[in-house]
Amino acid sequence: MLSTPQVQKEIQRRRTFAIISHPDAGKTTLTEKLLYHGGVIHETGEVKGKSGTKAVTSDWMAMEREKGISITSSVMTFDYDSLRVNLLDTPGHKDFSEDTYRVLMAVDSACMLIDVAKGVEERTKKLYEVCRLRKVPIFTFVNKLDREGKDPLTLIDEVEKTLNMQCYPVTWPLGIGQRFRGIYNRLTKEIWVYDQRREEVEDYKIIPFEKGKDDQILYDYLDKESADQVLEELDLIESALPPFDVNEFLNGTISPVTFGSAKQNFGVDTFLKFFTQYAPGPQARQTKDDKQIDPLDNNFTGFVFKIQANMDKRHRDRIAFIRICSGKFERGMKVKHSRHDKELRLSYASQFVAADKETVDDAYAGDIVGVGDTGNFAIGDCVFASGKVHFEDIPKFAPELFGRLSVRDALKRQKMQEALNHLSEEGAIQLFIDPLVGPQDPIIGAVGELQFEVLLRRLQDEYNLEVKLNRLPYGVARWPRTEDGKAVAELKGGANMFRDLQDNPVVLVNQEWDLNWLKRENPSVEFHTSISRA
Ligand code: GDP
Repeated sequence: MLSTPQVQKEIQRRRTFAIISHPDAGKTTLTEKLLYHGGVIHETGEVKGKSGTKAVTSDWMAMEREKGISITSSVMTFDYDSLRVNLLDTPGHKDFSEDTYRVLMAVDSACMLIDVAKGVEERTKKLYEVCRLRKVPIFTFVNKLDREGKDPLTLIDEVEKTLNMQCYPVTWPLGIGQRFRGIYNRLTKEIWVYDQRREEVEDYKIIPFEKGKDDQILYDYLDKESADQVLEELDLIESALPPFDVNEFLNGTISPVTFGSAKQNFGVDTFLKFFTQYAPGPQARQTKDDKQIDPLDNNFTGFVFKIQANMDKRHRDRIAFIRICSGKFERGMKVKHSRHDKELRLSYASQFVAADKETVDDAYAGDIVGVGDTGNFAIGDCVFASGKVHFEDIPKFAPELFGRLSVRDALKRQKMQEALNHLSEEGAIQLFIDPLVGPQDPIIGAVGELQFEVLLRRLQDEYNLEVKLNRLPYGVARWPRTEDGKAVAELKGGANMFRDLQDNPVVLVNQEWDLNWLKRENPSVEFHTSISRA
């Protein structure tokens, strides 16, 4: 049954997306400008801990501050035109890439942010691949046009070749670096000329522009060399490209590209206007039994894609972030839980606006709500008002660093095991069990060094456990499967076999060389770098 027309209307105006980029490409700056345009903040410098805001509430968040990185990701909500936009923040640091991958499971589109001087960087490429797996439509925003960089044609060519994806320039920069004077919007056939280069000043003129007829306008605003170049580039792209096809964007074949400078607030509004016109609303989600859940369905459903512990250290609380997939959420509603088969009341729920947490009474498909959790939730858990719904699993990715913990006080062994289970439910680490040793002494897998650091700090602060990390020489984890997806529990060639917490066999080896050896010894086995959470 479909939701009421009023609920449908709310669902249809949701747009939920994330920005993916390499650190330093300008994600924080762009986020700030988007929130500024969305009327959430009135001056920049309010987002995240970078300027010492209220968001910094616990010790391990202090670590984030010390290191100048963003470990946790939150959700920022703003209204623009008639839309409700949810921007999911993603940690920039590579050691927390798993967290980012999970965030990408909760969005309906993504904006790939590229530094015009640096082009496609390593992290961008990885995150792009994750979006591609899920066929998430991707906008591209080329940033820092106020600085010298690659010329736009070269950059687009690089994006297309590196990512094997077609680009569709929606806007085109008028000049670059010192000579950057504005943007031409190819779809609306307007030139946005910026008169002032000051942050937050929306001081631009919009001039209708038809190439061939109004070329003189370019010469009025740009030096001759830049104007010549822009006309030449426009000739080239216009003769080479078919008109914009929104379906190709929605199915992930092409990425519409806009240019700008987040810092100077050039082109951010052009991007937002394009985004509001074309970004997809909440998409249908696939369940494990191959059904599609329509977001407009009356039955409330959602899944947990992130758990954040210790927002408030005194209360040892956890917040489970739920992406609502269909229907309407109401505070206090009773829902069923996919894993425990029990009923829960979602009594405390919050949404996040920039660094501030606000209580929400209702929310709709597409929205993210944070619900208070006393240990019921793990990443990938589903909630629903009626029936039984289990969405497709959220994948885990192979860690590259491994260690075992020893606890100073032997009596606290059990407590450590509990703590590790909590932390793995949150997705902070992965655990691997040696069948000969059992679950009391698991191997811990991390994607990056910083994840280990956070682990040790949290065990100490939150669980009062003094532990020592003993590093293991493994560097590669793979889930061996047959061609038709069945788990392989035994391998030839002397492999070290372990189990993950869902009892899937995992092989750990020291380096790629060893893995290649195993591949040769076991030619019919596939070695997967990711696996779904059961
Ligand atoms: P993040 O690591 O991706 O969040 O990047 P930040 O937003 O923190 O930006 C990294 C640096 O690039 C900061 O010094 C910003 O001021 C600068 N930056 C961001 N956007 C622009 C831009 O459009 N032009 C210029 N010149 N600098 C920018």
